[in-house]
Formats: sequence, C-alpha cells, structure tokens
Amino acid sequence: MNCKAPGCTREAGRYGRLCPMHIVRQRTHGHPQQSPVNRKELYPWLDAVRPVIDRNRHKDGIKIAEERWIELLKRCGNYAVHGDGKGHVNHAVRKACESLCALAQEANFEEVLETVAALLALQGFEPRRFESDAAFSVQLARSLRRLGTTSVGSYYDRNTGKMRGVYRKYPRHASLYLARLVIEAIGGAAMCISKAVLSDWERTARLNGQYLASLVEIG
Ligand SMILES: [Zn+2]
Repeated sequence: MNCKAPGCTREAGRYGRLCPMHIVRQRTHGHPQQSPVNRKELYPWLDAVRPVIDRNRHKDGIKIAEERWIELLKRCGNYAVHGDGKGHVNHAVRKACESLCALAQEANFEEVLETVAALLALQGFEPRRFESDAAFSVQLARSLRRLGTTSVGSYYDRNTGKMRGVYRKYPRHASLYLARLVIEAIGGAAMCISKAVLSDWERTARLNGQYLASLVEIG
C-alpha cells in the first residue's frame, strides 16, 4: 500500500498509512505535508511586529500579557519540580514546562511575544502555510524553543560551517502543550499585534494604490 500523503509513491509502513519519511514529518512538524517555518522565513514577520510592539509597549494589554507570562513560568517551574502536587507527573507536560523555563533563561518576554505575533501574522497573511492547527502549534513551539537553544543543544555543522539547532525527537504532545500554554497566556496580545501589522500593510497598500491611480491623471 502506498503512503497516503499526496504525491508520495513510497510504500506505507506495515501498520500505518504513511511512509517512514512522512511519519517523521508528522511527528516533527505536526502534519505529514507541513514544511518547517525556519528562522529566515520568520525574519520579515519579526521586523513587521517589532514597531507595533514598540508603539504599544506602555499599554496595559502588553503589560498584563507580560505578567501572565511570568505567572506561566512560575507554574511551569513548579510543575517541572513537583508535578501536579498530587504525585502525578505527565511526561509531555513536564517536557513543555522545562522547555519554557529553559527558553526564559535566554529570551525575554518581548522576544517571546514577537515570535508568537510573527507566526500569527504569517498565518493571517498566508493561512495555507500551515496544514492544520496542530501544524501551526508545532511550528510555534519549534520557533519558541529555538529562542532558548542559542547555546544549549546546538552543534557545529561541518558541511555548512554554521551552527545548527538540535530539534530531534521532541515529543509532539509536548509541542502541542507548550503552544497551548503560551497561547493561553499571551495569545490575545500577540493576536492584536499581528492584526495591527496586517492592517498597517493594508493601509499602505491602499495609499500606494491611490497614489498610482492619481499618477494616471498627470498628463
Ligand atoms: Zn510518504
């Protein structure tokens, strides 16, 4: 039986519907056809959200989001050490909590907010970039975890001469949980920022359109 991913002619695994490559894709990227959102792709979106954050930094929405982020980190730190307090520890939840604490060591709140808003702006502008909600969550989790891996978990790639992050075998459930925690805490603020970016662009496009239309009248 062939792999169920469109266009794939490889043999599906014995018990599954996907070939080994698409199984790995699903696990690492949240969907068999999801291609990763890498650092380079996110740059222009980060550049677009920064000025919006700058001009709104003093507003309550951003300040409260920061308090919620700090609160989340406290809860995560607690869970990483004590579990749910009743002696239960969920592996994926603990992993997500540890990752958030680790990234908070290297990235400040604004970098986290920027990253979430940049991904939401990308999703708003190009909804098809993400194959599913889970794929979006996994890409969000990867982008956030990347903030905390500048020194830990990176290695020198001899082929390209660059430092590369190590993302291997991060459980999908932990990614989904990590994304959920972050969205619950600061998703509202990030969403408003991403919407402001898109409406800035629409405004610019409209003004450019009016300008171009007015040029026609010059004769
Ligand atoms: Zn396949």
